[in-house]
Amino acid sequence: MITEKSELKKHIMGCLVGIAAGDAMGMPTSMMSPSTIRQIFGEYVTEFLPAPKGHVIHDKMIAGQVTDDTQQTLLIADSIIENGEVNPEDIARRLIKWSEEINTFGTMAVGPSSLRALYGIRAGKSIYETGSVGDTNVAVMRIGAVAIYGKGEIERTVDAVERACIPTHNTNIAIAGASAVAMAIGCSINGEEDIDVIIEKALKAAELGMSRGNIWYSASIIERTKLALNIVSKNTSREKIVQELYDIIGAGVQISETVPTCLAITKLTNGDVVQAIQTAVNLGGDCDTIVAITGSICGAISGIDKIPDNWIKLLEKVNSYNFDEYTEKLYNAIY
Ligand SMILES: [Mg+2]
Repeated sequence: MITEKSELKKHIMGCLVGIAAGDAMGMPTSMMSPSTIRQIFGEYVTEFLPAPKGHVIHDKMIAGQVTDDTQQTLLIADSIIENGEVNPEDIARRLIKWSEEINTFGTMAVGPSSLRALYGIRAGKSIYETGSVGDTNVAVMRIGAVAIYGKGEIERTVDAVERACIPTHNTNIAIAGASAVAMAIGCSINGEEDIDVIIEKALKAAELGMSRGNIWYSASIIERTKLALNIVSKNTSREKIVQELYDIIGAGVQISETVPTCLAITKLTNGDVVQAIQTAVNLGGDCDTIVAITGSICGAISGIDKIPDNWIKLLEKVNSYNFDEYTEKLYNAIY
């Protein structure tokens, strides 16, 4: 277990930058199939690129620019920094404010679960009702700061995830998926280095998460993660594994696709943050979110020292972020 302050901060910052790096590098290749990515970009994408002209959701975005995944993660980080805890009412307020700022209600910039819930909250419904059918990977993509808050302790993590999910994703499947990723991040920040143990702990948290929230229908995260890990363990090339993950596990917005795929890429790349991000970018599908989540887990495992300086500089410049400051504030609010 890591107890030294400077070491913890390196892994906290690795997680935060991992989300932003994954989000921004996956931005141009999202909403495509792996073969379309190859057609458009000519080869494997391994760097930050602008969105290709006419991109279905990211048109006109520039190289290194992040999307809603990082924005919502930092919005929840701000809430934790200000409140010293995971407060569902405050998160709901911030989500509404953010949605109005980016004109979500006019442009459909967020997914169906969030939009339905945010409309409800804005109309005065209780936040304990609005998230009752939210089942998409938005619950997972923004869980980074909550994961840091959870400290890799299973009960603390799942409790915190449940509170964060209440306004828009208060279902067993969303809480389970977000708990799995939060646990993987939390135990990695606190010093767990064995990928198999990290995934095992993630699945334990998913199991506990399934007992929370409104019961909703979904394929099993746990069983599909085992299936995804089987694909990785088969002795085939990385290209074949990525294609099989895309074909069999899926890269869509369903949590039972997203979480198993992200955990499988973590295993495939042995948690190496740069390799994991560069591999996931070429998967296509809901790529910005899948790479952001994979980046958050592997950034927590690798720590900030393994993320290239020029990546951090570009992300901070393009998005006006200061990751050092965020890390310091989050650390002080949580530890
Ligand atoms: Mg996004």
